[in-house]
Amino acid sequence: MMKAWTLKTPESVDTRPLLLRDVPAPDMRDDELLVRVSACGICRTDLHVVEGELPVRLSPVIPGHQIVGRVIAEGSQVAGFGLNSRVGIAWLNRTCGKCEFCIAGRENLCEQALFTGWSVNGGYAEYAIAPAAFAYRIPDRFEDVQAAPLLCAGIIGYRCLRLTRLSLNDWRGARLGIYGFGAAGHICIQLARSRGAEVYVCTRDRERHQALAHDLGATWVGDAAEEPPVKLDTAIIFAPAGELVPIALKALAKGGTLVLGGIHMSPIPSFDYSLIYGERMVRSVANNTRADGQEFLLEAARIPVHTHVQTFPFDHVNEALIALKHDAIRGAGVIVR
Ligand SMILES: [Zn+2]
Ligand SMILES: [Zn+2]
Repeated sequence: MMKAWTLKTPESVDTRPLLLRDVPAPDMRDDELLVRVSACGICRTDLHVVEGELPVRLSPVIPGHQIVGRVIAEGSQVAGFGLNSRVGIAWLNRTCGKCEFCIAGRENLCEQALFTGWSVNGGYAEYAIAPAAFAYRIPDRFEDVQAAPLLCAGIIGYRCLRLTRLSLNDWRGARLGIYGFGAAGHICIQLARSRGAEVYVCTRDRERHQALAHDLGATWVGDAAEEPPVKLDTAIIFAPAGELVPIALKALAKGGTLVLGGIHMSPIPSFDYSLIYGERMVRSVANNTRADGQEFLLEAARIPVHTHVQTFPFDHVNEALIALKHDAIRGAGVIVR
């Protein structure tokens, strides 16, 4: 048996819907690792699972998909990890390997994909399992707690930067807008700055998000709907707020791409064609490929990225998610065991 936070039915997180229960320890398959969890990052997607913005895929479910832990058992088909090795388990839990997307190297779009903490149990627990082929090695320079937010907030920010269509050579002097400055934003700015970009941050909360953006070298910081003083070459919206789309388009230079980083967004209001005319492009990001994750972790270690974390004890998962919902976390929240 193990202790785990389980969600039976989605509800407002303010009602503390996750319950700490004794549940059977997970059953490992031949291609999987059994991991003792040491840290698990909290993510806005967990809120969408808990509050029902994402449809129920498994009930009850153990949320949490930024898991850092040690391998304590491995299936008979697993090679290359070894007992006690440190691994990361992320949102993309498993893909089919057979559909047109998987075959084309676009496994993030797999029709049969399983997701950690949504369609399979996740990391707000003592133990978790994951297919070895989808587990990440974590560069030595990151402590467990520092590494956890890299596994979703970090990887998704990396993929957002990739989908801006700016090649690595184009980043020097590029003007990047970031809308919403939580866990993903605060890692993304570090990547963009190390590539030479100027970063313009639009976010609410002067004390936490705006202050952290200043500390991390933003060229300019304003409120969520404020217009930056220059036209942006590209922009990313991390906040799940559809009303920011026309606002960000207004700030975007001709030919620029606006990337939407969230899995869920409130409805996007209609807007005048002139805002997207001039070959501006809006695109979403759906999950990530394993290659994104591996490339990101190497780049993060090289820079190195420094994650700003606020830790919560294992007993306080509901409180951590409440803090996330109400914008009370500076940087990224992490549950520690
Ligand atoms: Zn597939
Ligand atoms: Zn996430």
